[in-house]
Amino acid sequence: QPELAKLDASKLTIELATCLKPLQEPETLRFGMNFTDHMIVATFDPLTGWSIPELKPYGPLTLDPSCSCFHYCPNVFEGMKAHLGPDGKPRLFRPNMNMRRLEGSAERMALPPIDGDEVLKLVKVLVTTDARWIPEGESFSLYLRPTIIGTRASLGVTASDSAMLYIIASPSGPYFPQGFRPMSLFAMGENVRAWPGGTGGHKVGGNYAPAFLPQRIAAKQGYDQVLWLFGEEKNITEAGAMNFFVVVQRDDGDMDVITAPLDGTILPGVTRASCLIIAADPSFQEKYKLRLHIHERTFTMKELMQWSEQGKLVEAFCVGTAVSVGSVNRIGFEGKEITLPLNGAVLGPVSYAIREQVLGIQEGRVQWEDWSV
Ligand code: PMP
Repeated sequence: QPELAKLDASKLTIELATCLKPLQEPETLRFGMNFTDHMIVATFDPLTGWSIPELKPYGPLTLDPSCSCFHYCPNVFEGMKAHLGPDGKPRLFRPNMNMRRLEGSAERMALPPIDGDEVLKLVKVLVTTDARWIPEGESFSLYLRPTIIGTRASLGVTASDSAMLYIIASPSGPYFPQGFRPMSLFAMGENVRAWPGGTGGHKVGGNYAPAFLPQRIAAKQGYDQVLWLFGEEKNITEAGAMNFFVVVQRDDGDMDVITAPLDGTILPGVTRASCLIIAADPSFQEKYKLRLHIHERTFTMKELMQWSEQGKLVEAFCVGTAVSVGSVNRIGFEGKEITLPLNGAVLGPVSYAIREQVLGIQEGRVQWEDWSV
C-alpha cells in the first residue's frame, strides 16, 4: 500500500477572492456572524491521505448527505483569536496549545491523524491573507475556527476514514457588546455536561448541542449561563463553555484560587492554563499586591455555600477565549442564591488583575514568555 500523504502546509494553493466583501463597522459585530473573504480546506482520503490544502474564497461546502458528520458527529474544532499588536501585526495566543488539543480531540473521535503544526501554519496564512478583517481596539479580534469533520459517505456506524479540515475566521468584538458586566450562573443538578470516561476533556462538537436545553432553562430562570455540576456531591466543574474559578479568603489573610482539576471531564482551556500560571507568578502577585495560593482540586456546591455563608467567598469568575476573564455576581442553586460581594465593581481584585494581564499579553502590550506569537 502506498504511503498516505501527510498534511503539508507548504504545498498550499491560493485562489484569492476576486471581489472582497465590505468590512463591517466594529460596533455592529456579533459573535460568529460574519466571516472573512477566505477559508482553507483540505480533505483526507483513506487511499491517498491528506490532499493539498487550498486557500479559496469563503463559501458553502458540498458534502454527501450520508457523511458521518451529519449523523454520528465525529466532529472536532478549535477556537482561538488573532489580535492586532501595537506594531499593527496580527498575533496569536499560545496557538500550540490549541493545536495539541485539536490533535487529541481528533484522536478521541477516531478521525484520521492530524498534524497540528501544519494546521497552525495554515491558520497563520489565513490570518495574514485576511488581516484587514482584524478589528482594531481593545477586546476586538479575529476569531479562528479550525474544524475537522468526518466525511465517510456511509451510514455504517463506524469511525470515519475520511475527513475534511477547514479553517474559517470571524471578526469579533467584546463578549459583552453593551459594556463589560458580571455574569449570573444557574447551578444545574439535573443535566450533566461531562462524565468520567466521556468526552468532556476534548473539544468535540457532540459536547455542545446537549448543553443547549439546559442553557435555555437557565436563561428562563433569569441566569446568563449554566454552572455545570457533576456527581452526588455536586462537584463544580465548568460554566457555560468556560472554565470556572473561585477565590476564597484564608485565615492568614492570603487568598486561595481554586479551579476543578483536569480529570477528563473538564475542557483543558488555554485561558485556564494561562490564568493558573499567571496567578501563581510572584512578579504578578507583587504588581497587583495580591497573595494567592493556587489549587486545582475538586470542590463542591456544599463548600461553595459554606464559604459564602462564612463570608469567605471573595470572587467567582469564568475564563475562556471568548470572554477572556469574566466575573460572576450571583449563582442560583435549588431555589437559593449565592451572591458575590462585588461592591458595585464589574470585577473583583483577583479577576481584574488576571484579566488585565491576559488581555495585555494577548494584545501584545505585556511581554510573557513566548505566549504571544
Ligand atoms: N470549557 C469549554 C466547555 C469550552 O468550550 C471552552 C472554549 N474552548 C473553554 C472551557 C475555554 O477554553 P479556552 O480557554 O481554550 O477557550
